[in-house]
Amino acid sequence: MSCDFIGLANTGVQGLKPYEPGKPIEELERELGISDIVKLASNENPLGPSASVRQAIDNAVADLSRYPDASGYGLKQALSSRLSVSPEQIVLGNGSNEVLELVFRTFVTPQHQVVYSQYAFIVYALLTQSCGAKHRAIAAKDYGHDLDAMLAAVNDDTRLMCVANPNNPTGNFIDAATLKAFIAKVPSDVLVVLDEAYYEYLSEEEKADSCAWVNEFPNLIVSRTFSKAYGLAGLRVGYCVCHPQVADLLNRVREPFNNNSLALVAAEAALNDDEYLAQSVELNRTELKRVCDWLDAKGIDYIPSKGNFVTINIQKDAMPTYQALLEQGVIVRPIGGYGMPQHLRVSIGLPAENDRLLESLEKIGFA
Ligand SMILES: *Cc1c(COP(=O)(O)O)cnc(C)c1O
Repeated sequence: MSCDFIGLANTGVQGLKPYEPGKPIEELERELGISDIVKLASNENPLGPSASVRQAIDNAVADLSRYPDASGYGLKQALSSRLSVSPEQIVLGNGSNEVLELVFRTFVTPQHQVVYSQYAFIVYALLTQSCGAKHRAIAAKDYGHDLDAMLAAVNDDTRLMCVANPNNPTGNFIDAATLKAFIAKVPSDVLVVLDEAYYEYLSEEEKADSCAWVNEFPNLIVSRTFSKAYGLAGLRVGYCVCHPQVADLLNRVREPFNNNSLALVAAEAALNDDEYLAQSVELNRTELKRVCDWLDAKGIDYIPSKGNFVTINIQKDAMPTYQALLEQGVIVRPIGGYGMPQHLRVSIGLPAENDRLLESLEKIGFA
């Protein structure tokens, strides 16, 4: 006799819907029997890994039979000197997604409430639900965070607030002064995750000195990743900067070898490769502008973005457009799961990949 496993699962998990990733290239190849596919669906770095990363991985392969350094010493030292924070303030994760998960597992229980914005990164909602915690998804303002409304939603049960800046999937951006004023108003026993997955794409003037703010606001947790501008999405490395006591707690929950040894050396090499990062950021700057100029010229509505993607308003159910693009061999990202069924998120690729997208939009009659 079979058992009702759903009934056995944690209450929060029972109603959970899995994260919907971008469609893999191989899957579309199998489905349509076509090749030469362009994937602009997961905000990956289109340049591929840098030569220095490949070299670091080559050098580390000989030691694959050994366990990785569970403390991530080398990478933490490198981050510590880059970010001017102490290694005790850094926690490494298997992608910044794992860092978020550690924060939730460490601090959020079913008694607690988590506050985030409508249209914010969907992982905040998924983690809140998997913890069985209460959520307040605050109505967005121009697709971005309504920080005042988020503050007003804080109550005695609120344990955590999540802010993505720039936000995914909308690309919205909050300037440093506004952000700092917001964090200053959050009660000191409410943690704030500032998710800066796209930080490196900002201009020097736009970049907040957020890691330094942790000294002023011990309840602040700044998370960043090697998956986007550093080009290591496949290896899964992210980190957060936080108060040493918070870091100590997160490290108690963290599994000892959460970062594999190739990921650790690759992230360190990527961090030291200023040229690759600058090239990646510059490519994104010029190509994002080119794609947006094209959309402007065609009179197509989109949300202005500070990330490596742009979210286009299809003005009707976006799924037929998504499907038609798939048939052209172009994978973009439907975001109905975010409550945005009329938008498609498009990552910025190489010039030729972006050309394919724009040509395909014309071809399917959207532009
Ligand atoms: C991509 C992304 C992440 C997580 O990426 P990882 O690959 O897990 O580091 C976190 N937050 C936002 C807003 C993202 O877009």
